[in-house]
Amino acid sequence: MVINLITGCAGFIGTNLSLYLLRKGERVLGIDNFSSGLKKNVEMLKTYKNFEFKELDVSKKFVLNERRISKIFHLASMASPKYYQKFPLETLKTNFIGTMNLLEIAKKTGSIFIFSSTSEIYGDPAVHPQKETYWGNVNPIGLRACYDEGKRVAETLSFEYYRLHKVKIKVARIFNTFGEYMSKDDGRVVSNFIIQALKNDNITVYGDGSQTRSFCYVADLVDGILKLSETDDQFTGPVNLGSDTELKILDLAKIILKLTGSKSKIIFKSLPFDDPVKRRPDLTLARKVLNYKNSFSLEDGLSRTIDYFKGEI
Ligand code: UDP
Repeated sequence: MVINLITGCAGFIGTNLSLYLLRKGERVLGIDNFSSGLKKNVEMLKTYKNFEFKELDVSKKFVLNERRISKIFHLASMASPKYYQKFPLETLKTNFIGTMNLLEIAKKTGSIFIFSSTSEIYGDPAVHPQKETYWGNVNPIGLRACYDEGKRVAETLSFEYYRLHKVKIKVARIFNTFGEYMSKDDGRVVSNFIIQALKNDNITVYGDGSQTRSFCYVADLVDGILKLSETDDQFTGPVNLGSDTELKILDLAKIILKLTGSKSKIIFKSLPFDDPVKRRPDLTLARKVLNYKNSFSLEDGLSRTIDYFKGEI
């Protein structure tokens, strides 16, 4: 049976993707160094017989003797601002050296290389909504640069391996996503607000809450990533994946208050530096090439995520 290699399998999206493939009966070789991923996610994945795990850091030298890898889903990287700003050099190394190491494996094994890039490569966008043809507005020396520029150089590496070595690359630019197996303390807005609401703690809106994001439920994102992995070899992307239902962060807080029936109060804290003002993907390409759909409404996805976090606290 062919093998799906998933780096960052202990992380939020890695766990969901692994779980989906394992439930379909496919084989998954998962890699993680637990820099931000959770050991308990891997313990859960290990209950599936087709799952194998290796604890390793993709940015260090490593050998995989496995020749039957058919797809590499490269998801390893700290992804929440709280983590990557605490570990900027590790984040840069994972995205540069780690991506190069995995592209070398793709080159040797002839496998398809699916890279999880990010909406952060658009920075604080001057074009709205963001199309794949937009080159972005990134501060190269700011606090987010380790992640944004790390992902940008990883995209560059992917395209050089495609041009020089004919590696079958596919680049997904992932916009804000939420759902089961998110870490409850990684500081991201959906997990923060849900945990705060469930505990009746204050809901911490940064700035005045007028900044926007577009939130995608993880099952839709996983579906998009898999559809991307099944496209013709000529299709490299980059392709945006996420949801184009844009809303203000303050409105997200209000929806979560309503769905949880919480008594929490909304409080306002200072806005982090370089926090993008707005973000919404143009999903035309994904819809056309992948037949990508958002099957879950924001409320439906949030309700499922709230149920998950109820079991976590
Ligand atoms: N945010 C917030 N309160 C929180 C956490 C985040 O208001 O407790 C805001 C944050 O400033 C940003 C948005 O929510 O404008 C999304 O933040 P997140 O860290 O989830 O992801 P980002 O899109 O910024 O990478």
